[in-house]
Amino acid sequence: MAPFVMDELSRHYTNVEYVPVDISKYADGNCGPSFVWSFDSGRSGPHAMICGIMHGNEIAGAAILDRLIEGNVRPTRGKLTYCFGNPTAYGQFDSSAPYNNRSVDADMNRVWGAEIDDDSNQLAEVRRVRALRPIVDTVDYLLDIHTMQGRGRPVALLQGKPAALDFAKSITGIPLVLTGTMHQAERLRLRDYAQFGDPKSKSVAIQLEAGQHWQASAIDEGEQVALEFLECAGVLPKRPRIQESDQKRLKVVEIILPEGGIFEYAKDFENGAYFPQHGTLLGFAGPDRREVRTPVDECYFIMPVHFRLDGGSCGRFAKEIVD
Ligand SMILES: [Zn+2]
Repeated sequence: MAPFVMDELSRHYTNVEYVPVDISKYADGNCGPSFVWSFDSGRSGPHAMICGIMHGNEIAGAAILDRLIEGNVRPTRGKLTYCFGNPTAYGQFDSSAPYNNRSVDADMNRVWGAEIDDDSNQLAEVRRVRALRPIVDTVDYLLDIHTMQGRGRPVALLQGKPAALDFAKSITGIPLVLTGTMHQAERLRLRDYAQFGDPKSKSVAIQLEAGQHWQASAIDEGEQVALEFLECAGVLPKRPRIQESDQKRLKVVEIILPEGGIFEYAKDFENGAYFPQHGTLLGFAGPDRREVRTPVDECYFIMPVHFRLDGGSCGRFAKEIVD
């Protein structure tokens, strides 16, 4: 795999606070593909799926799935499937270089398009997607749990269709929701796949970035969102929640890119950092250190990138969607 572009700041983000859970006991699965467990309530209702570790280094996803399965969280209506996305990459996790095992051959969250039907493509992640496809095709509500490189509040990334925005709004524990055109939008993510990307379909996929990859708090944050997701999907009974929703719904206004592979943040910004004034300095791009500033007033900065792949972005500027 291509090496990551790292800088001084990156090194502040390599502390792994917990040991990855052993997922070998889930290898057999119970519905066809390995590491996929499906439970049917025996009552009619939707099919909800929770997926984790599509990226092997995002180990919180496995811990959350393990808690839900071991905690006997089962559907009371419809069907619930737990999916360990990329167990092979996960198995290569090394806490001394925790950013290295994102994938085996290819980014699994970029191969949900034409790659699937191209039989000449035998990359490990494409083969895994092919194996998962029959079950994913039957899913109505999908939560794909990821984690991110920067610290800060969780953010849900999703298609801008009304069904997706409305569903995300019902999950009050998600503080930030982001839609809009992403970097490398032509390479389909799971959240863009088939029914999820179809504006006419009511099926919804949410990609949750639950917190910083290796901070233990991402496990708790992700688990709480997962439980509320299952309630809102209708496979678990709804529990009353005291928290008032303060969810911010955002749309991308600019993707921040390095120049010649070079970018440096002006400060250690967190995910969801808010800038009231346009023209606030975010960082410096390129060998000439061109200043990158917020393009609009009331601007949010989403998902700082500290282990950048060549060609990758350095985050997004976003603005609140006004109904
Ligand atoms: Zn990820």
